[in-house]
Amino acid sequence: MRIKKLKLVGFKSFVEPAELRIESGLTGIVGPNGCGKSNLLEAIRWVMGESSAKSMRGAGMEDVIFAGTASRPPRDFAEVTILAERSDDSADSDSGDELEVTRRIERGAGSAYRSNGRDVRAKDVALIFADAATGAHSPALVSQGRIGAIISAKPQERRQMLEEAAGISGLHVRRKDAEQK
Ligand code: ATP
Ligand code: MG
Repeated sequence: MRIKKLKLVGFKSFVEPAELRIESGLTGIVGPNGCGKSNLLEAIRWVMGESSAKSMRGAGMEDVIFAGTASRPPRDFAEVTILAERSDDSADSDSGDELEVTRRIERGAGSAYRSNGRDVRAKDVALIFADAATGAHSPALVSQGRIGAIISAKPQERRQMLEEAAGISGLHVRRKDAEQK
């Protein structure tokens, strides 16, 4: 799976609608301190189902909504859309090769997800990205401090990272899902 586009509205410091095209290959984000580089990576993780507010550097999930500045009022919602292209070997390749997933959070109303225009559950989104060996904890997203975290990880944590990198953690997600049925 390849991420082609990212759209943000009211997400953290991205108060005005922003659209970023992501080319294939390695992408690096550069800019001065506080310009929103980490926020962008968090947006990608968030739309793929990140459920930990702490790992989004917030106390609660609503903290991802633009909180306002001296000159701008706060917003009522945040929305992130990711546009991806599925590769041919993907398990879901029969459902078309473009995938669009949107997550939206409204104050007091929690998060809602859409996939290619249909309402879906958080769990469905987790499964889509788990199969593609990507997702909110993908080793393909190297956030600030991640290298240090890998070096100082406990063996069990490092094993998890390796399983994610090898693309087999999606199998664990599927197994858990099957066991619950
Ligand atoms: P550094 O180079 O220091 O790592 P960075 O480019 O990664 O910086 P970010 O951490 O992505 O910067 O962005 C931080 C900015 O985002 C801060 O100015 C912060 O106030 C702003 N920000 C974060 N959450 C919100 C929010 N909910 N509403 C408005 N602004 C926010
Ligand atoms: Mg940063």
